[in-house]
Amino acid sequence: MLVKRIVRSCILLLVLCLCAGCGEQSDVKRSDIVLDTAVTLTARGEDAQAAIDESMARIRNIDNMVNPNVPDSDVSKLSQNAGTGKWVPLQPETYKMLAVAQDYARKTNGAFDVTTKPLVDLWGIGTDHAKVPTPAELSEAQKKVGWQKLELNEGTHSARLVQKGMGVDLGGIAKGFAVDEVRKIYARYGIKDGLINLGSSSMYALGVNQEGQPWRIGLRHPRKEDAQEKMAILPLENEALSTSGDYERFFEANGTRYHHILDPRTGWPAMSGAMSVTIVAADRVKDGGMLTDILTTAVFVLGPEQGARFLRGQDGIEGAITDGRYQLWTTGNMATDLLEVSPDFHFWQESGENL
Ligand code: ADP
Ligand code: MG
Repeated sequence: MLVKRIVRSCILLLVLCLCAGCGEQSDVKRSDIVLDTAVTLTARGEDAQAAIDESMARIRNIDNMVNPNVPDSDVSKLSQNAGTGKWVPLQPETYKMLAVAQDYARKTNGAFDVTTKPLVDLWGIGTDHAKVPTPAELSEAQKKVGWQKLELNEGTHSARLVQKGMGVDLGGIAKGFAVDEVRKIYARYGIKDGLINLGSSSMYALGVNQEGQPWRIGLRHPRKEDAQEKMAILPLENEALSTSGDYERFFEANGTRYHHILDPRTGWPAMSGAMSVTIVAADRVKDGGMLTDILTTAVFVLGPEQGARFLRGQDGIEGAITDGRYQLWTTGNMATDLLEVSPDFHFWQESGENL
C-alpha cells in the first residue's frame, strides 16, 4: 500500500516537473531606437529570437521609406518632385499608408492630414529650433497644406504633390503600420504570446504575459512629469493600442503648451480640449495598429465630443479621451476595461453630470 502511494506520488511529481518544464519558456526581449522611437519587442516561443530579429530589420526597412532625412526615401522623393507634375512610384508599403491616410482625411474632414508637413517643419516641435511662428509664416505654410493636393494613382502605385514646397509626414501613421507588420512576422514564426511596443505610442498585445494573464498596459498620466505615473491600467489580449498625447513633444511659451499634434485647418497645435487619446482595436479589425495610430491623432484634433462620436461609428474600436478638466470620455467597453484609474480623473457622463 505504502509502495503504491510512493509510486503514485513520484509519478505525480514527474508530471508536475514536466509541465513546469514545458511552461517555462521565457520571454525574449530586444530594444532599439527605430522610427525615431524606443522600440521594445517581446516574444515567447521556440523561434522568438528569430522573429524579433526579423521584426527589427523590418521596422528599419519601413523607417527607410518614411524618413525625410533619408535622401532616397519615398517621402523625400515626394517632396523633391512636388509641383513638377511628375508621378513618384512608391513602395507598396508607403502607397498603402498614403491610401489609408487619404481615406481618413476624407472621413475626418481633414483633421488627419499627412500633408501637414510644412506646418510640422515650421513649428519644429520636438527639435531645438521650436518656436511660435509669425502669422505671415503660418499663412505661407498653410498654403502648402491640404490632403486634396496629394494625388494617388492606384494602377501605378505612385503619388504626387501638386504644389511646390509640399511634403508628407507619416509620423502619425508609420508606427502603427510597423506594429501590423511585426504582428505578421510573429504569426509566420508561430509566436502566440508577445508584446510589440513602439514607444508606448503604438502597441500590439499578443496572447498573454508570462503569468498567463492579459498584458497590463499602463496609460501614462498626461500631467505628471514622471512617465511612470499612470492614468490607468488597461489589460489587453490580442488587441492593438495607440496613444497620442500633448505631453509627448511640446514646448511652453507664455504659459501655453505648444505640442506636436497640429490642426491642419488652423495651422496651430490642436486646442480641442483633449490632453490624451487612447484607442484599442479588436483583433478582427484589419490593420488595427495603423488604424489606431491614425485615429488617436484624428480624435485628438477633433476633440473629446466630436472625437468620441466619431469613434462610436467605428466597428471593433474603443477609446478613452482625457480632457483639460480631467474628465475621461470613453466609448465601447472602455469605461469598464480600465483598471486602477487615477483619482485625478472622473468619467464624463452623457447626462452632463460629472461623477
Ligand atoms: P506619436 O508620434 O507620439 O505617436 P501621433 O501619433 O499623434 O504621435 O502623431 C503625431 C505626429 O504626426 C506629429 O509628430 C507629426 O509628425 C504628425 N502630425 C501632426 N499633426 C497631424 C495631423 N493633424 N494629421 C496627421 N499627422 C499629423
Ligand atoms: Mg501615434
